[in-house]
This record gives sequence, C-alpha cells and structure tokens, in this order.
Amino acid sequence: MNAPNSNLHERLRALAMNLWWSWHPDMIDLMRDLNPHLWREVDHNPIAFLNRFTPEEVEERAAEFVLHSRINYAFRRLHEYLEAGQTWGAMHCANLKQKPVVYFSAEFGLHESLPIYSGGLGILAGDHLKSASDLGIPLIGIGLLYQQGYFGQRLNGDGWQEEDYVELDVNNLPLQPVTAADGRPLVVQMATRSGTLLARVWLLQVGRVRLFLLDSNIDGNSTDDRRLTSRLYGGDNRLRIRQELLLGVGGARIMQALNIHPGVLHLNEGHSAFAILEEIRRVMEYDRIPFHRAQRRVSLYTVFTTHTPVAAGHDRFSPDLVEEHLGVFREGLGLSTDDFMALGRINPHDRSEPFCMTVLALKNSRRANGVSAIHGTVSRLMWQPLWPNRPEGEVPIGHITNGVHILSWLAPQQYQLFETRLGRDWVTRMTHPDMWARVAEVDDGELWETHQNLNMQLIRFVRRRLLMQSERLGHRETLAQIDQVLDPDVLTIGCARRFATYKRVDLILSQPERLTKLIGDPHRPIQIVFAGKAHPRDDDGKRLLQRIAQYSYTAACCRRVVFVENYDYNVARHLIQGVDVWLNTPRRPLEACGTSGQKVLLNGGLNLSVLDGWWAEAYDGKNGFAIGHGGMHDDPDVQYQRDAEYLYETLEQEVIPLYYEREADGIPHQWIKRMKYAIQNLGWRFSADRMVKDYTERFYLPAANATSAETACFIK
Ligand SMILES: *Cc1c(COP(=O)(O)O)cnc(C)c1O
Repeated sequence: MNAPNSNLHERLRALAMNLWWSWHPDMIDLMRDLNPHLWREVDHNPIAFLNRFTPEEVEERAAEFVLHSRINYAFRRLHEYLEAGQTWGAMHCANLKQKPVVYFSAEFGLHESLPIYSGGLGILAGDHLKSASDLGIPLIGIGLLYQQGYFGQRLNGDGWQEEDYVELDVNNLPLQPVTAADGRPLVVQMATRSGTLLARVWLLQVGRVRLFLLDSNIDGNSTDDRRLTSRLYGGDNRLRIRQELLLGVGGARIMQALNIHPGVLHLNEGHSAFAILEEIRRVMEYDRIPFHRAQRRVSLYTVFTTHTPVAAGHDRFSPDLVEEHLGVFREGLGLSTDDFMALGRINPHDRSEPFCMTVLALKNSRRANGVSAIHGTVSRLMWQPLWPNRPEGEVPIGHITNGVHILSWLAPQQYQLFETRLGRDWVTRMTHPDMWARVAEVDDGELWETHQNLNMQLIRFVRRRLLMQSERLGHRETLAQIDQVLDPDVLTIGCARRFATYKRVDLILSQPERLTKLIGDPHRPIQIVFAGKAHPRDDDGKRLLQRIAQYSYTAACCRRVVFVENYDYNVARHLIQGVDVWLNTPRRPLEACGTSGQKVLLNGGLNLSVLDGWWAEAYDGKNGFAIGHGGMHDDPDVQYQRDAEYLYETLEQEVIPLYYEREADGIPHQWIKRMKYAIQNLGWRFSADRMVKDYTERFYLPAANATSAETACFIK
C-alpha cells in the first residue's frame, strides 16, 4: 500500500490491486467517471485501464471531473476495511487466527476481468472468499492461474457456438509475484515419474483474503507443461490429473513455503483432493508419526464440499495415470500401489475400479456436505456404497446451501434504495431477518420504478451486444431495427445456463406454437433473453444452444427472443439485475443448488423454477413460482413432457396474469407483493454471508478445535 502522499495514479492503482473495489459501486463509478468509454473497452479491468493513463493524465482528468476527494476517500475506506478490528470473525474465530482455513478450488469467479472461472462452481468460490473477507474470517484461497481462462463464445450465422481463446497478460491483472523466504520468486516442485513439474505463484488480494494462484508457465518446465495451466477444463485426463496435482499438492506446498499451518483444509469439489495427501505427508514428517495416524489426524480438520450429482462430474483416473503422477509421492508415504489406489476406490479390493477424487476426499474428511438440502439427500444415496454398513440416512454427508455475495450482485440502484430504506447499517446486518423485514415498508412505486430502470438498462445492454454481434456477422441491421428489440413494457424472462443437456434450457421451446403464441400475444406478451455456454466438446449441448439461437432468428420472434453471446460475470450481472422472471428448468434432482436465481431475487426478479436445488427448499407458494410439484420419472422423456406442460400452465395461468394485473396507478401491486416477500424471506437465507457463517460454525470451528484437542491429547 502506498504512502499517504502518493499521487493519484498510485492511489488508484493501489485500489485496483485489491478486488475489494469490485463490490463497491462507488469505486466502480469512480473508475468509469475517469473515462467511461475506455472503461467499457477494457472490460472493466482497472489495471488495464490505468495502464492506459500517465500520472499526469490522471491528475488532469481528476481535476476536470472533481475526483480528488473521491479518490482519497476511497483510498481511506479501503484502509479502514483492511484494518478493521471489529469483525464477526474477530469475535468468533480466534482459534483460526494462527491457523487459518485454506480453501482450495479449481476455479474462482471474482470479476469479468479475471477469467479464471467457467461457471457456477467458480462464482460460488469467489463469493465464498468475498464473504469470508467481509466477515473477517481467517481464510486463504488456493487456485490456478489459467493463461487463457475459459473460452470466449461467438455464434456463427447458423447459431453454432465457436470458441475464442485469448492469452491473458499478467501486466494487466492485479497479481503480485510471491517470493520465498530468500527473496527469490517462489517456485513449488512436484516430482513425477515423467519429470518434475514446476509452478510459480501469484498473489491476488480479495479484500482481507489472500488468494494464491499457481502458474506452470515458467522456465524449467517442458513446453507441454508450460501450457498445463492454459485452459480451464480443456484437454484429456492426463492433463487433468497434472492440473490437479498442481492444485492440490502444489497448493499445500505454498502453505509450507510460507510457513502457514492450516487449521482447516476446505476442498471445494474433488479436484484439489490431492492436497489431503500432501498434508498427511507433512504431518508424518513434522510429527514423526506413521501414515495411518497422520491420515486420521488430517481428516479431523478436512472439510469437503461436493457439488454435483452428475456422475461425469467426478474425476476418475486410471492406475497408470495415478502411478505416473503420484508414484514418487506414494513411495514417500511408504504405501504399496494397491494401498494407494485403495484411497480412491469405493471397494478397496476391486482392482478394476479407477481412482476417484471424490472418494479420496470423502474417505479422508471428517466433515462433508452437499450444497442444498435436496443435494445432501442425493449425495447420501449416491455415496452410500462407501459406507456399506450404514443406511442411506446415516451416510455422513450433510448439506450447507449455497448463497451469493450480495454486494457483488446487487444493482447499484437497488443498493441505493436499500441504503435509504433499510438503514445505513443494512450492509453489516445482512444475515438478520429483522433487518430484511423492513423491505415491507418500501413504497411499491419506488421499488417498481427502480426495477423498471434496471429492466431498461438490461434492454440497452442487450441491444448493444446485438449490434456488435450483427456487425461481426456482416448483417446490416440498422440502429432503428436494433432499437425495436425488446420492449420495456413487456414481461421479460431471463434464462442463462450452462448448456448441459440435463439443464434442459430448451424446455420452454418444447411446444413452439404455444410459445410463439405467448410471445406474440397482443395484450399480454412475453419476451425472453437467453445466454449460456456449452462445453467446447459437448456437441449435444451445442445443438441445444443452436436450436434456441435459430428460434430467436425466426420472423415471429426476432424482436422478442434474443440470445446474448458469451455469458460471463458481466452478462450475468446485467441479466439477473434486469429480468422480471428467471427461468430454471433442470431435470430434477440433478441441479445441485443453482445460485443465479438467488442473485435475481435480491434485485426484485421472481423465480420460475423446477423444484430442484435451492428452489426446492426456498419456494413456499408466495415467493415466486414453481414448475410442477417436485415429481420425478425414471424415463427422462416422460419427465420432460410433464415438466413442459407444467411450465406452460404456470406461465399462462399464474405468471402472465399476475404481471399484467395493474391497478389504477399502472403498478402491479400483487406482483410487487411477491417481490418484497421474496427479498424479505429469502435475501438473508441465500446470502453467502449466511453460508460462510454456517461453514464456520458447523465445520471450521469444530474442525480446528478437534485438532487442538487431539494434539493436546497426543502431547499428554
Ligand atoms: C451465478 C452464475 C452461474 C451459476 O448459476 P446457476 O444458477 O448455477 O446456473 C454461472 N455462471 C455465471 C457467469 C454466473 O454469474
């Protein structure tokens, strides 16, 4: 951090080097006000933005737009934030102070300028770090720096997805190189049968939380290995296991190099489960105890969160791959190949079983959870074979339902409204239901006007994007034509998802005539904004996407159905802040949680969803809309047809009539009643602050205490 007499450019840079700016709307305004056009051009990346200014230019523009005091104020606030002593964590987490939580995740979604995430899992991890920071919980993140991130999405003229990979420039990112005790750049090493793998380490500051990112692109690695951390979820199983070796073992070694002893290991999904083995190795060496004792001890403070009921979402590796990459490591632990493979097998004696990362994590963590109530149940059923002597209900996997980092997802206008109507302390009381109860007193007209403004903002965003899309494809749509797209007075449905087949994004298209009729209704029409990416190798997903894109090109729909390319943090923010209704139609029970609908409700949108994931526990008949009654069928086609029927019925009989039911003042008071009720009752329950507090109270603190107790006993 710079000295108080540093110049404005340095101060802005110091602000930009901590992602804290990204969840404070006045910071974003500050950057934008320096040069709105450039701010958009650099994709809201403040480092790239500032790299385009000389210190003199900043001074000039600050003088011109009277930004001096705002910059100084922002700088002071960041300092106050970093130094605050009175946090929830300071009061509740004293025993994590010396031994923090170390949180591993293969992706972190923190902001659009840092494309090191692909979707929900990453966004959740990013929100976890931000809330841990706000709450003052001693927590450190570990992840990978992907030089090309996930892919950028374009659709060709036929609506087929094409992928773009852009090399990140570390000079344009808020990364600091991490140095070892001797002052030289920290490099972690992992010996494998096919050579040593190296990685350097970057630090990304997320408020009070440090996130360390491993990067294999350094001298000393083979050309292939330098590209190991190029892409997220690209490549084959061999690349995958090498990435996971880096993340788990490499990540744990960063902690050792920096002399940080973890009080808790939290594995966000199985990708990082090798960290457990490295921690066991460290404890064996440090405490001079044999493998099985170290294993038992480490499991006491290991927390594992599983994120998907889809079988393909759990990594499984062949014995060959495991031996190639962990053979050297295995010898260090003194285990035979069979004993080592058994760590990742449901049936330790079944030599045909591959090594599963989820199994490794479940066998070696005292605390494990799914990410919603229904996902907890599904996970217990799914992993029951690991505990053959226990009935399904007693499988030791609980649940903590995901939540979202409110300040990152709340529209600035909505923030203003809350600030004036809920009291200035609302930000520190976001997990208190009584604070949210004040939403009832917000004036309907005021809430509706805010919502309509956000809807207009979404429409302008969509038009801007469509114009870019059509220019790129060489279509000569005129501005006048683009300005006909979407109508602020029409009920806007948003639907953005990963195009995996089980998400069934096409459910609403299953009866095209019926849908077209709803869209073209002369009195009560609907309009739909779609977005989402298919995995580059998932042709079924791409076909599904194409079907939707092509439907949006038809003459009957071209102004009322749009597909916005390149769903990312920025597109998500616009969508969830501006829609009236958020549509989610996964095949029950395959949605683990889903968080986008939680972002929507805070901004005044209502959910219309299958009773799966978080919605199965959130929906109470008054806070949104349900598709069906939570039924399932063994035949996916039957389930699809039934759910489609329910979807149309709910739209036709509940959603559309309620939205268009206007009173003399033109305002839909019954609709607004639901908006308010949803914010009041669900806002705090599905916030990441509530989630992180749950993890802390139920998992982190008992885990950290268990180790101290066990160690104490051992010393006696
Ligand atoms: C919130 C979010 C997600 C996760 O949403 P789901 O409800 O799980 O689909 C995925 N991608 C982006 C960009 C998001 O912001």
